[in-house]
Amino acid sequence: MSPTYDVIVIGLGGMGSAAAHHLSARGARVLGLERFGPVHNRGSSHGGSRITRQSYFEDPAYVPLLLRAYELYDELERATGREIATLCGGVMVGRPDSRTVAGSLRSATEWDLPHEMLDAADIRRRFPTLTPDDDEVALYEDRAGLVRPENTVAAHLQLATRRGADLHYDEPMTRWEPYRDGVRVHTADNTYTAGQLVICPGAWAPELLTDLGVPFTIERQIMYWFRPTGGVRPFLPGNHPVYIWEDAAGVQVYGFPAIDGPELGAKVAFFRKGVVCTPETIDRTVHEHEVRAMADHMSRCIPALPGTFLKAATCMYSNTPDEHFVLARHPAHPDCVTVACGFSGHGFKFVPVVGEIVADLALTGTTGHPIGLFDPHRLAAAPA
Ligand SMILES: Cc1cc2nc3c(=O)[nH]c(=O)nc-3n(C[C@H](O)[C@H](O)[C@H](O)COP(=O)(O)OP(=O)(O)OC[C@H]3O[C@@H](n4cnc5c(N)ncnc54)[C@H](O)[C@@H]3O)c2cc1C
Repeated sequence: MSPTYDVIVIGLGGMGSAAAHHLSARGARVLGLERFGPVHNRGSSHGGSRITRQSYFEDPAYVPLLLRAYELYDELERATGREIATLCGGVMVGRPDSRTVAGSLRSATEWDLPHEMLDAADIRRRFPTLTPDDDEVALYEDRAGLVRPENTVAAHLQLATRRGADLHYDEPMTRWEPYRDGVRVHTADNTYTAGQLVICPGAWAPELLTDLGVPFTIERQIMYWFRPTGGVRPFLPGNHPVYIWEDAAGVQVYGFPAIDGPELGAKVAFFRKGVVCTPETIDRTVHEHEVRAMADHMSRCIPALPGTFLKAATCMYSNTPDEHFVLARHPAHPDCVTVACGFSGHGFKFVPVVGEIVADLALTGTTGHPIGLFDPHRLAAAPA
């Protein structure tokens, strides 16, 4: 008997929703299983905004994937009419030798990406809300901006459904095993069979991928929204870039223009610096001392921002030891399982291209995209 589905996708968050779309667009019979409802806020893909940029300080190897992701944002916007990406410009600020500035410049140079270097006076003149120290500089990128995580997930789910994917919510996978030439997947009440399994587990990677050999660390992160002193106008998207700002101690903070109007203010967060947690143990309460620490930090670089604290929300990073993704056929089950995980706090901007890569891997076993950096063997070989 042939399996019911060609591919079962576990997790319909950022990556899984994109995978379900790309797989079903290629004619595969897809079942998607999601632990919670559609577009929920208990994983890693919520909070209204994610930074996108191309001059990628993490590694120039990401750049070709970003160029493709940008094309796919446009396609997604056209296909669904939803607002996906807003390219309002972005500054990467820090000392010239900081990872944020030097790494961004390296990618921009290697890939010949449009960018400008600004000294402290230029930054103050162009973006009067920013108050850098005299020895800080910035790489400005016109094509940086933000993507809308909830809209992106909803758009991918919508397109997958339109192509006939079966998407089941509130139905977590409890376990799976190899079965005939494919896999058998169990949930509390059902059993399904398929030729291929795709696992996009977000922060549940440690429990769903025990045999991957990757030591994941799940990290609690906080997003803060403030109403700026003096009003929101200088913070509106036409006037304000997205920013990543690294201080002399290497602490990075990043933030957004006031994209949802004065009531919601402008969002800011620390990049990393979070407490280790699990999806079960994460403290969802944001404490007063945490709000104070963020307001103090921002009063040095964007003094008008921390006017009135409006709200905060938590989210999870799924970190690998080197903070690069894991995107590959599963080394222990190379014939039938594809994994997309360990996005280490910087995955959202890649969501559409990860969907395309996962579809390539699940349907053909290989991809034309350069994903050598994301091979899980690199981590299995490293000392624990
Ligand atoms: C505060 C914060 C800020 C960020 N900022 C940026 C940014 O500016 N730019 C950027 O590019 N990236 C950013 N990121 C990272 C980015 O958002 C993540 O890399 C991305 O959302 C991860 O997507 P995912 O699909 O792996 O995880 P998720 O979207 O969480 O999806 C995983 C899904 O799997 C489901 N699931 C788990 N177990 C099961 C099971 N057994 N059965 C069925 N379903 C299951 C979960 O319910 C969940 O829906 C940020 C992340 C956070 C938390």
